[in-house]
Amino acid sequence: MHPRLEKRTVSNQDQQPLLLLVDDSPAIHRLLAFKLRNEDVELISAYDGAEGLESAQRQMPTLVLLDLNMPTMHGLEVLKALKGDEETHNIPVIVLSGSAQSEEKVQAFELGAMDFVTKPFDLPELRARIGSAIRLHRLMLMLGQRAQIDGLTGLWNRTYFDERLESEVNEALRGEDKTVSLAMCDLDHFKKLNDGFGHPAGDAVLESFAKILSSTVRSYDIACRYGGEEFALIFPGTEAHEAAGVCERIRKAIEEHRWTAYPEIRATASFGLASTPLPEVAGPTGWLEAADQALYSAKTNGRNRIHVHDGAGGFGDLPNLKLAG
Ligand code: GH3
Ligand code: MG
Ligand code: MG
Repeated sequence: MHPRLEKRTVSNQDQQPLLLLVDDSPAIHRLLAFKLRNEDVELISAYDGAEGLESAQRQMPTLVLLDLNMPTMHGLEVLKALKGDEETHNIPVIVLSGSAQSEEKVQAFELGAMDFVTKPFDLPELRARIGSAIRLHRLMLMLGQRAQIDGLTGLWNRTYFDERLESEVNEALRGEDKTVSLAMCDLDHFKKLNDGFGHPAGDAVLESFAKILSSTVRSYDIACRYGGEEFALIFPGTEAHEAAGVCERIRKAIEEHRWTAYPEIRATASFGLASTPLPEVAGPTGWLEAADQALYSAKTNGRNRIHVHDGAGGFGDLPNLKLAG
């Protein structure tokens, strides 16, 4: 994810909302700063359209209050630019205008404004509209993120995985010395475990495995539930031997894990790893196939092990680690 987007996302939405006021009238800035001084918001100012646009792109505010009639760049142009930029198009915009012309309102809404307030504004009403725009925006962010999270394990889901794999692999293929590793993991004989101990026990194992994944990978690695009892790990900027080391820690942790509610359960997992450079692999699908082949090899060679696609070299004497392909 772009660092600018990371600044303000759902995960840090608890921080104080940042309001960007874009208006050429210093009096409006003074008035709002005074009226909002006791509110739990931080107000930042821009005095013309170009400055407002630049500030929005740099600071990623929670909400923009945008005047329309400004010299040099008209508010509607600013709105159009904000909504046309992939990084700022989700920032809600409340248009503040001295004119109550319905044509201008229609245009603003058509360009993506969330709300329209006519000046001189009633302050309690503006405050209420600001609060409502912030709540609505947070809800939208939350829903957007939920659509990418797996309900049982809380890991990223398949939808998110597909997007991330594509961007990480393409970036690695474009970059001169970019590395990326992909691991597919699959719990061993999981059907038997479900049949023997019941579905809730199977779910408990999936949840524990997900916790092990999240706590073992680094913050910038991406742990996903690919589907059923299959999981995928994307390791940006990571060589095969490092990724294999992480997989080995996960493999060992699940093998040694015990469940208080099901003391007899023993679970293991197999891993297939594909890493740069894989010259014969063209795109994300090829990477997935390479990791899948290595996983298949781990499965057919006894399970509870990590196989690495292609012979890119030896990786020390990690137990249960073999080169495949
Ligand atoms: P292998 O070692 O070859 O991977 O064998 P396996 O039994 O793990 O593989 P198989 O694909 O035959 O079976 C996967 C099982 O995982 C079947 C399915 O019922 C179970 N499963 C998939 N999703 C869930 C889930 O959300 N909860 C539970 N409890 N079981 C699930
Ligand atoms: Mg399995
Ligand atoms: Mg499976």
